[in-house]
Amino acid sequence: MKLGNIEFHIISDGHVLLDGGAMFGVVPRPLWEKKMPPDGRNRITLSMNCLVIRAGGKRILVETGAGGKMNPKWRDIYGLDGPFLLEGLRSLDLRPEDIDVVVNTHLHFDHCGGNTRLEQDQVVPTFPNARYFVQEGELDHAMRPNERDRASYFPENFAPIAAAGMLSVIEGDHSLTSGVDLIRIPGHTAHMQCVKLTGEGKTAFFFADLVPTTAHLPLPWIMGYDLFPMTTLENKKRWIPEAIREGWIALFAHDAGVPAAYLRDRDGHWEAEPIGVG
Ligand SMILES: [Zn+2]
Repeated sequence: MKLGNIEFHIISDGHVLLDGGAMFGVVPRPLWEKKMPPDGRNRITLSMNCLVIRAGGKRILVETGAGGKMNPKWRDIYGLDGPFLLEGLRSLDLRPEDIDVVVNTHLHFDHCGGNTRLEQDQVVPTFPNARYFVQEGELDHAMRPNERDRASYFPENFAPIAAAGMLSVIEGDHSLTSGVDLIRIPGHTAHMQCVKLTGEGKTAFFFADLVPTTAHLPLPWIMGYDLFPMTTLENKKRWIPEAIREGWIALFAHDAGVPAAYLRDRDGHWEAEPIGVG
């Protein structure tokens, strides 16, 4: 897809299966299971969608999926079928060394696992020529996670990047290049960032884990994983109506069927109208 001089694609690193109850917070199972039927272990199927952008002469990758470093036990727990990120990049004629910028919206393993890879017994950066952009507060938290979210943070996904001097730690909103903006939107974590693309008067918005799937459009459908659910609620009230009003292309980090959609307000119900992104 194109917005003026900005070209972007959604590719998936593969699927991750997460507990349906945890994914929908206070929403009772009889409601969410109609939209996303769970498997025998109460897990629903999510995609780990990554956004590839060509803009301002830069090749930018937003999110890197879960990657390929997890051991078989954890691969089974999370139902990982990837990693497919590098294959997806290849289909866009991109090699790992072609990536100039990597953005992690936050440092949960399903968003940054592909930052690094195993080479023999060493963990090395997957994208040798990239600067990796992370919010300072998110990095601080990832280094010292709390008892409730430590299962989501694996130092091997970001510590080797920091050690290699390849991290660009930012504080608050940041423009990567003209028309590609990182916007700090707390809720899921204290310092998550979303990505806004603008060109020729049109906008595409990568919602990260603010609205991970189209099923999470209704206001109370907020993940149990969120550290600050009331902040998520406030930010959904701000960003979803704006996306509807302005006719933005909404991009979803975890929707396995609808990675991109226009959002519509139908008599007070927010709905997604899927669009194809090649
Ligand atoms: Zn997350």
